Amino acid sequence: MTPKEAKSTSNDLSREYFDRASLIAPGGVHSPVRAFKGVGGTPIFFRSAQGGTMTSVDGREYIDFCQSFGPLILGHRDPDVADAVREAIETAWSFGASEPYSLDLAEWITSRLPWVEMLRFVSSGTEAVMSALRVARAATNRNRILKFEGCYHGHSDSLLVKAGSGLAGEAASSSAGVSENVAGETLVAPLDDEAAIRRVFDQFGAEIAAVILEPLPANYGLLIQRREFIDETIRLARANGALVIFDEVISGFRVALGGMAGVLGIQPDLVTYGKVIGGGFPVAAYGGRRDLMQLVAPVGPVYQAGTLSANPVGMRAGLATLEKVERVNAYGQLEERTAEFCDELNLNFKHRGLPFEITRAASIFWLHTAAGAAIRRIEQIPPHNAEAFAKVFHRALDRGVYLSPSGYEVNFMSLAHSDELLERAQGAILEAAENSV
Ligand SMILES: *Cc1c(COP(=O)(O)O)cnc(C)c1O
Repeated sequence: MTPKEAKSTSNDLSREYFDRASLIAPGGVHSPVRAFKGVGGTPIFFRSAQGGTMTSVDGREYIDFCQSFGPLILGHRDPDVADAVREAIETAWSFGASEPYSLDLAEWITSRLPWVEMLRFVSSGTEAVMSALRVARAATNRNRILKFEGCYHGHSDSLLVKAGSGLAGEAASSSAGVSENVAGETLVAPLDDEAAIRRVFDQFGAEIAAVILEPLPANYGLLIQRREFIDETIRLARANGALVIFDEVISGFRVALGGMAGVLGIQPDLVTYGKVIGGGFPVAAYGGRRDLMQLVAPVGPVYQAGTLSANPVGMRAGLATLEKVERVNAYGQLEERTAEFCDELNLNFKHRGLPFEITRAASIFWLHTAAGAAIRRIEQIPPHNAEAFAKVFHRALDRGVYLSPSGYEVNFMSLAHSDELLERAQGAILEAAENSV
């Protein structure tokens, strides 16, 4: 370790907390990526955050590009969202009964996104996806689901699957504790491969209830898909009587107000939202065609419920976030800021012969080992990406920049990342990359 690095890595309190946390929670964390397994070392414990920065329990400040993995599109503790939350806790924070706050947020959404005729609020993306699949199965009287390798849809049993070794599309569970019977009803196809989906539909077309996809896959790196691939997937689904579910938990209200459905001009039958929709509080939703959503209890036979669903604090934080995003016209600014930031880093990587590259879509970016071509499928990710990223991650961390702690996670720009922060971050990331080869 160089003396400079030694001086800048005093994370003693974080270490102490992590030792204690490891005794009471598996791996010391409450969600796996937080444990830094992908990058090594001890996770930083954070005490506070504001705008584009977070402060650790050891008192060190970091420019934050993880942004809670996406929800904080306005940055940490945006003042308008803070006002809405304050007002909420001064009126009521949970009823378990009908209230106007979820109505406000629901009407705001349904009046802007025509493919969301009705929706139901839940508390996590996992729950939203799980419920949407249940609706799809009920609507079609079919059991199979088709998903793509490299798309993440939360941790419900049906979707913790990976491509199996057998027939086209057949899957195996990717987690212990998932019944092989449940996993076996999900089919898995590679992204970016029209011929492969055709084969799956040829064989299983009449049994597939729904095709679920992240229209912008952003949970295994950022695997930007060709338009033709998405179009062909949807064409095949429709031709075979399968529903189309867009999982926009990460892309919804992030890449544009209408998410990828809006960007592509495609109306999914069902759609799931999460992350930005709650502005940093546990809010998610599933919605879509009225006839499909009418299948949900209490009007229909599909059971789904939640003690804290449509929690008033989350509802108002979500609405305050979305209203502000719309009012200040955030998407253009965010895109411009992110493009400038990433383009300049990419230019510098190239000029200095550094083997790194940033892939970007709107305000989402992924720092990875250069592959020489667009990466659209997981096997196109360079084999040493994880190790190379781990080095850059720690060197950037030493220099006060917190990237999402895995080479397979993306990063997020917020409206609170000022020019000054971004200039500092650029310098730090560039130095980190130079010191990583
Ligand atoms: C984050 C995410 C989920 C899971 O959401 P949770 O709130 O973590 O359960 C599902 N789908 C996509 C596309 C996501 O990005």
